[in-house]
Amino acid sequence: MRDVTPIFSPRSIAVIGATSRPLSVGWETLNRILEYGFTGAVYPVNPKAHAIKGIRTYPSVLDVPDSVDLAIIVVKRDLVLSAMEQCREKGVKGMIVITAGFKEVGGDGVELERRITQITQEAGMPMVGPNCMGAFNTNPDVRFNATFARFHPKRGPVGFISQSGAMGAQVLDFASERHFGFSKFVSIGNKSDLNENDLLEVFAEDGEVGVILLYLEDFVDAGRFREICTAASRIKPVVVLKAGRTESGAKAASSHTGALTGSDTAVDAMLESCGALRVETVTELLSVTKIFCMPQRLKGNRIAMVTNAGGPGIIATDELERAGFVLPELEERTVRQLSSQLPPEATAANPCDVLPGTGPDGYRIAIEALSHDKNIDALLVLWTCPVMFKTSWLVEAIKPLCDKSPLPVIALFSGASDVMLDAAPLGELEIPIYIHAPGVAAGLTAGRWYREWLQRGDEPAVTFEVDKKRVDSILKKKGPGWLDPSDAFAVLQAYGVSIPGSVVAAPEDDALNAVGTLRYPLVLKVISSDLLHKSDAGGVEVGIADAEELARSHRKMVDRLQKEAPSAKIEGFLVQEMAAGQVELIVGAKREPGFGPLVMCGLGGVLVEVLKDISFGLAPLWRIEPERMLRRLRSREILEGTRGLPGIDLSAAAEVIARIAQLVVDYPRIDQLDINPLLAGPEGCTAVDVRVNILGE
Ligand code: ADP
Ligand code: MG
Repeated sequence: MRDVTPIFSPRSIAVIGATSRPLSVGWETLNRILEYGFTGAVYPVNPKAHAIKGIRTYPSVLDVPDSVDLAIIVVKRDLVLSAMEQCREKGVKGMIVITAGFKEVGGDGVELERRITQITQEAGMPMVGPNCMGAFNTNPDVRFNATFARFHPKRGPVGFISQSGAMGAQVLDFASERHFGFSKFVSIGNKSDLNENDLLEVFAEDGEVGVILLYLEDFVDAGRFREICTAASRIKPVVVLKAGRTESGAKAASSHTGALTGSDTAVDAMLESCGALRVETVTELLSVTKIFCMPQRLKGNRIAMVTNAGGPGIIATDELERAGFVLPELEERTVRQLSSQLPPEATAANPCDVLPGTGPDGYRIAIEALSHDKNIDALLVLWTCPVMFKTSWLVEAIKPLCDKSPLPVIALFSGASDVMLDAAPLGELEIPIYIHAPGVAAGLTAGRWYREWLQRGDEPAVTFEVDKKRVDSILKKKGPGWLDPSDAFAVLQAYGVSIPGSVVAAPEDDALNAVGTLRYPLVLKVISSDLLHKSDAGGVEVGIADAEELARSHRKMVDRLQKEAPSAKIEGFLVQEMAAGQVELIVGAKREPGFGPLVMCGLGGVLVEVLKDISFGLAPLWRIEPERMLRRLRSREILEGTRGLPGIDLSAAAEVIARIAQLVVDYPRIDQLDINPLLAGPEGCTAVDVRVNILGE
């Protein structure tokens, strides 16, 4: 693990390029450090100034009379290199390079970035940046803030790593408005030395960080990220806002920080596999982070609600139920307590409507009673401020109860920003405060997701016994391109996937002669590398009952192909036994550069492109992943059995996925593989059609 102590806990800082010109970066940086109350020594460096803000200023870092733990560089780009060299000479322990104009602008910026990175790495000075927005650490013993976020950060459990400075500032801004706080923040910019992996590893181990947020545009090393994040997410939640989901988004990202964006499906599958929660928007990021900041984790899906208004209560109930949460009946004891203390018109049930007139007193009674109910896992306090009260009165009244509540408390206060201001004291307890019901649902859903991730085992997939020699010998004689059908089926068979009995007939042969010991009914298929979908051109005939029909089908198929696909070269015919199974699945794999092999399953057959009911996993898969992939499909009810139709043997289908994952991990030369369809029924699965594409050696 990298030592980042000089970055987050320096005892002395040199601000190289500090100026006395208000609103310049050099001024702002110094000013922030001073205003936030840094507990160490600060040395402005500027050859043209004698003092800035009353602080003695030095012409170069070499003139600073004391040792320097951290140098923050804000000079013009062309001066960065020499400033870095001086820092090395001085023995500075860590660097933050805020100055921009490096890799992200291309040209000589790339070379300049390489040179400063070399200096910092040779000297063993960890560097954040270049082209970044600084870092902060809210620990009261340090109080270090060198960022340009609008507000000074509030202390709290969030550790935030942001590739973009502006996105970082935006999140910090909103977070401050919503009263949740940070322990550490770093904007990694071009991340030429310290990158997201280094910092994720550090934050995972940092006891002051309770939840990790990442804003990323690309991954420096997705494989390493996966490893680190798998370990980190077992200790604390990891939330990722990854930009570049759409194609144009990806382009914008690549022109932004010189980022090369990886394929998005692979990103999804990778994050899913390592327990990172991917969010789509800043709003969602804020909603889920608040839940993770709570001192108590959510233990279940049973919610109690107290409200003083009907409408908002109904809306919130709908949102929660849609998201799979329940509002169960209360314990008898609770009901008794509520009805004896609340006015008779109030509802002593769940949701508990205390009515507008009871004000803070009604809430006190309800929270006291509900927070001890054994049927409940979390308490939602919904407040719409009636004219005769103030939100601040409510907050004052319920704060002590919330503080000692055995259940996690979540606030949903309808209103605008003034309501948020009044709610601030609850923020001090890290109680999540929402102003819209969908935010609550998103937050609770994230909480449940994390609980499930922790319960989910991270056992690696089982390794099946397979016939590698057979695959080796097939691949050895193969250049790049598609395997012919008999080789492709042989590869599946070697990896224990069942295939129908089949024989290949030469094009000029009468298919009949090839049948041998195959049992009717049979299937006749053309073999032609010119035909991607054989059945589209009339090249598949199923349910052939006997020899006579086979001969007839063969003749008809040759005629049909001549008409439908005259340019397709017929390389032969495949005669296959009919396989059983009422559901056509697709199981495939595709190698994603930078990520590894993506394994896919879905509802297959000829409609796969239309239905797009597919799900992915990144190999190597966890033991439980294949089955989870199947259960994630929209058509899972079809797989599980519906309306008198039997379900398929899910574990057999899952095993095929696991075996394919093992195959593509074992053979990096397999670039793409598609079993379509895998015929699946209650008795098992058979791969009746497969294509395998091989890369050159
Ligand atoms: P293609 O995808 O090139 O059109 P397939 O070999 O997948 O050709 O065959 C098309 C369809 O025929 C399959 O989706 C399946 O419904 C059916 N089929 C093919 N082979 C068999 C078989 N051995 N047993 C049962 N049905 C089959
Ligand atoms: Mg097919």
